[in-house]
Amino acid sequence: MGVFLKLAVAAAIVVSTYYAIVRIAEHKADALAGGGTFVLDGRHTAESEALDAVSRQLRGWGEHEHAASLARLQGSGHLFVAARLTGGRSAIYVDALGLVSRIYVRRDELVARALPFPDLDIPDRARRTFATIRLAGTLLHELQHYEGVEDEGAACEREMAWYRELGERVADRLSGEDRRWFEWAVASAIDSAAAAKATATATDGDAATRRRLTLDLWRAGLLQVRHGRSRPIPPGRSRYP
Ligand SMILES: [Zn+2]
Repeated sequence: MGVFLKLAVAAAIVVSTYYAIVRIAEHKADALAGGGTFVLDGRHTAESEALDAVSRQLRGWGEHEHAASLARLQGSGHLFVAARLTGGRSAIYVDALGLVSRIYVRRDELVARALPFPDLDIPDRARRTFATIRLAGTLLHELQHYEGVEDEGAACEREMAWYRELGERVADRLSGEDRRWFEWAVASAIDSAAAAKATATATDGDAATRRRLTLDLWRAGLLQVRHGRSRPIPPGRSRYP
């Protein structure tokens, strides 16, 4: 074989090996999200419309920046739907082998704005408000990781700050029952994020668990299952209005 042919064969091997590794990373990422995943694009009408509804609600609350970053994420092709995301998380960020960087959002929470707290006895509108706030806050958290924030505590703090800003901006515009339930939803979302932060930072002594992916799996509840805790962290009942 001539030198150029050898180089061409070597280059082809490198390229095909690279794509094979990317496929493995994609497969690994999908498996971590529970399988049954797909990219959120226009081919999936129910999911696309549900994301649009979240964005419309965010704009209604004056959260134009967050709505715009969700649109950018979806446009980039890095927002995926996970049909079987477990552990009580609305969304997770997965960075597989540094080759695949995706945010997976749980399908039932996106489409039906369902909650992973089956015994939560509250009015439907309050449930939907809480589910929307929690989903939007979790997506904001995962967007921090997607944009390079590795520190779990910092991502949790940003998520909680967003809930507080949202509460301050919107609650004044509401009154009566609507206001009380909105304030409850914001407070419950903050409680839930604070509990997740405490769980994540409690592992700081262990260098292995400080890695981003591991921490997100911890937050996703996937590691909690292994540790015998399969229930998500419920919102504080003491805060019911
Ligand atoms: Zn995180």
